[in-house]
Amino acid sequence: MNLVEIAWGLDRLRWVPSAVLTEVVNRDGLCMWAFMDEPPWAGEELTDHELASRMCAGCPVRDECLELELRTAGADTVGVWGALPADERRELHWHWLQRGERAERRRS
Ligand code: SF4
Repeated sequence: MNLVEIAWGLDRLRWVPSAVLTEVVNRDGLCMWAFMDEPPWAGEELTDHELASRMCAGCPVRDECLELELRTAGADTVGVWGALPADERRELHWHWLQRGERAERRRS
């Protein structure tokens, strides 16, 4: 899936309040509970791309996590969130801003 398609996919969450997204990610995010001990990749040197693919695989709230990070950190995002490394999220952020009311807000 390319970044434009990901931005389209996040449209379904655009009216969900950030507080709700935060609650959902904190409650159901895989990294919030599954790796409390040592993660399976401990000791390996992973790029952020590899970490995103390993850590976020199977997480049920990847879209919610991504939408929340785009809203809160925007282009200043760092680390791994929403199954994407920071460089891809920064690029995605631009596409995400072009969607619906976000684009309207920027024009007004
Ligand atoms: S998508 Fe990744 S970073 Fe976000 S909550 Fe799930 S496991 Fe954690």
